[in-house]
Amino acid sequence: MKRSAIFTVLFAALLSVAAHAGDLVRVTALEAGVYDAPGGSSLDIRVHRGSVMQYLDESRGWLRVQLRNGVQGWVPGWSAARFSQDRFLPPIPGPEFLNPSLDAPAFATVFSDFALLRSDPTNTLPAASDRTRLGMLPRGVRLKLVGRQGNWFRVELSRAFHAWVYGELLDFSPGAGFGADARLRSAALLPDKRRHTLQIALDRKAPFRLFSTDRGVELYIYGAAAAGPLPARSGPFTMRQAWPDVLVVECALRHAPLGFSAQYLDVPLLTGGATLLFQVNRPRAPHHTDRGPLSRWRIALDPGHGAATPPLGYAAGTSTSDGLAEHEVNLTVALTAARYLEDFGAEVILTRTDRTDAMNDLYARTDLALERKADIFVSIHANGGPPSASGLEVYHFEPHSQALAAALTRQLEARINTGPGQTRFASFAVLRQTQFPSALVELGYMTNAREARLFRDPAFLDNCARGIAEGVAAYIAQFSAPGHPAN
Ligand SMILES: [Zn+2]
Repeated sequence: MKRSAIFTVLFAALLSVAAHAGDLVRVTALEAGVYDAPGGSSLDIRVHRGSVMQYLDESRGWLRVQLRNGVQGWVPGWSAARFSQDRFLPPIPGPEFLNPSLDAPAFATVFSDFALLRSDPTNTLPAASDRTRLGMLPRGVRLKLVGRQGNWFRVELSRAFHAWVYGELLDFSPGAGFGADARLRSAALLPDKRRHTLQIALDRKAPFRLFSTDRGVELYIYGAAAAGPLPARSGPFTMRQAWPDVLVVECALRHAPLGFSAQYLDVPLLTGGATLLFQVNRPRAPHHTDRGPLSRWRIALDPGHGAATPPLGYAAGTSTSDGLAEHEVNLTVALTAARYLEDFGAEVILTRTDRTDAMNDLYARTDLALERKADIFVSIHANGGPPSASGLEVYHFEPHSQALAAALTRQLEARINTGPGQTRFASFAVLRQTQFPSALVELGYMTNAREARLFRDPAFLDNCARGIAEGVAAYIAQFSAPGHPAN
């Protein structure tokens, strides 16, 4: 009896740990203090917005957390939010949960340019993408399939992480084993003035995911393990075997990353295997002979839409009730903002310079900016909606772009005077790449009577342009502050 009671207590304790295992806390306030108890005394530790900590417990509106250095403490609930490990699914307990049409683990390879990992087997409409999108798998990645629902396949990334992939993007092939059998061969820092670059050699293409915070980037390589001891820290990169079959490479910075990427090299190696390049952009260091605070920075401005845009495809944009088209407003503001940015010393790349430029493919706009090595991307739009909708909105997608969106919101608010602006998250095509921080500005509503009049006022458009240039400058100021390590 006594023995079974102890067992029950132990088991309950294990269960509660299991329920929280993997739960994390992200700091949502600008910074948060860490305390020894709910409402207790300060441990003299401040954690910054975006920092992620292990969730332990909560009480009376406070969250108990464990910091990366192992320190445990309490943060006020208003300053942080609890979330589960990015909605990854728990492993399927046994084969009885599998759909009979896939009764044994099978293997498939991504054959399209990329396949999205999702937390839910849902349709592929963009509207569903915000909620369920977990990450991206490049072509050639081999996946272990452990379940099926319709044309969706449940993928075992590692023992602890499952996700869903749409079947049309996969090439089904019989094949040999999968698991933690992608072995790390080596990791080497490559000399590169523009980026921190780590070249990671594996013996096969394993799936991976990138996470950004305001203090760096983490690369998760699933089904991968080091054969021996992990390589020592090189530059800003460190490696850890976070799970037996998940290798995590961290690039630690003292600021939000300016842009980052990871990709497999397509060149086949004589020795077999695969080479994964993990790159994190360095900020352009300010120079004492500079012509202005933004010299050596390349800013891409994207005036949304265009007169040549067909009614289908990339939407034609909105207009005022008396026929002023959004694409005209966007272009006027972008051309003026370009002048202000050039006055600050920046080099400006415009995705279109006249009203008839087509650029119907949204990805062509970000591709152009990537090709021209832009440091920052700002898409300029005016909004449409019900007559009552009004005000400034600035959107970002990747976490590292949030600071840019926030800086644009603050500076535009101060210039255009249409009330408080909103900084929001959205999965817009022009915001989804990670190689530079990007934001999409909706200056106001052309469908709101008061704001429609403003869009006819050259002084208002000039203020919009100033606000954008000043927002970009305010964002960049964090990298150019005297004494900034600029790493
Ligand atoms: Zn638009």
